[in-house]
Amino acid sequence: PTTFDVQRVRADFPLLARTVHGKPLVYFDNANTSQKPRQVIEAVDRHYREHNANVSRAVHLLGEEATAAYEGARDALARFIHAPSRNELVLTSGTTQAANLVAYSFVLPRLRPGDAILTTTMEHHANIVPWQIVAARAGATVKAAPITPGGELVVEKFVELLTPEVKLACVGHVSNVLGTVNPVRELAKECRRRGIPLFVDGSQAMPHRPVDVQALGCDFYALTGHKMLAPTGTGALWARKEHLDAMPPFFGGGEMIREVKFSGTSFAEPPHRFEAGTPNIAGFAGVAAAIDYVESLGFEAIRAHERALLDHATARLREIPGLRIFGEAQEKEPVISFLVEGAQATDLATLLDLEGVAVRSGHHCAHPLMQFYGVPATLRASLAFYNTHEEVDAFVAALLKVRRLLR
Ligand code: PMP
Repeated sequence: PTTFDVQRVRADFPLLARTVHGKPLVYFDNANTSQKPRQVIEAVDRHYREHNANVSRAVHLLGEEATAAYEGARDALARFIHAPSRNELVLTSGTTQAANLVAYSFVLPRLRPGDAILTTTMEHHANIVPWQIVAARAGATVKAAPITPGGELVVEKFVELLTPEVKLACVGHVSNVLGTVNPVRELAKECRRRGIPLFVDGSQAMPHRPVDVQALGCDFYALTGHKMLAPTGTGALWARKEHLDAMPPFFGGGEMIREVKFSGTSFAEPPHRFEAGTPNIAGFAGVAAAIDYVESLGFEAIRAHERALLDHATARLREIPGLRIFGEAQEKEPVISFLVEGAQATDLATLLDLEGVAVRSGHHCAHPLMQFYGVPATLRASLAFYNTHEEVDAFVAALLKVRRLLR
């Protein structure tokens, strides 16, 4: 019972009105990508209809408008995550590109044989594989901090692993599989005490909670637009100015230079130094609209509704005999991974789809976490503020039905 008018909100999301296989859609794959409100769709449409031109290259009015849209998204993101300066935001295609930028431009030049990068057992491959690639080049290793069976980071172990050879520590703000919220502020304090920079993967936190990078105290914060109502192919890396100033460019090309000569090229100041080539300008017009949309609802209302949904879904799933939930953290976002005894995850997901319910089955780009639990896959229902209690009930009814079919 909140003041949140979920039906009014749903009316902003055209796709939620469609049917799949003749059934009303229940979209519970939000951790994979969110649906988009018409305000975002219209911002992209308007950009191409009225303002389309390339950024920073033209003196004509359209060029100025396109640049204003792109740079406006940088301003909006900087404000949204409380960055001290807009120039600390590098616009990227998503979290993956942000992590790779940190891997190649920040860590690789610092890695010596025997050094290490610390991550955790619950990370998405985007917060593991880039580190492994650069570690292998430098003769360094990647270590992983352990988690508890309930899916919480063992903080003391993470801290113990912060040894002098660690050149970067990495953690997801929120797990895409377990929903676990990691204690970033506490980890950042421990890292800072030891002079070890902390990279935070904020992909799954941004859609659900207000983020203040200064309050968190981390060094890098990566985010992806498409999970927070914005178009695919948008994202950002926030990094402390001192780090960006010290980082060489990763991609070379147009837009990122000061002067190019065959005797040597000088590069633009951050953040443009890291933004070679033509970016997803229309997508970033959508990012600004997405932030406006979230701010118009307010995180307080969003969080209250999502909390109620998570509690309801968890309670309903717990009634089902033989259903195991993965991830029982004290603090979690509305993501529920589970398995049902005697049924394959993919079979259940396939049959659920025929009932109109979209959930994800698989390893969720988190092989090491699946290995930790000793399972090849889980089902994952991930919720958003535009989901309803009725959808949770429809999902549970469908799950009970398809389980009977598989028996
Ligand atoms: N980290 C986490 C925790 C994620 O859930 C995802 C998306 N599944 C990513 C990183 C990668 O994001 P993107 O593919 O948008 O770069």
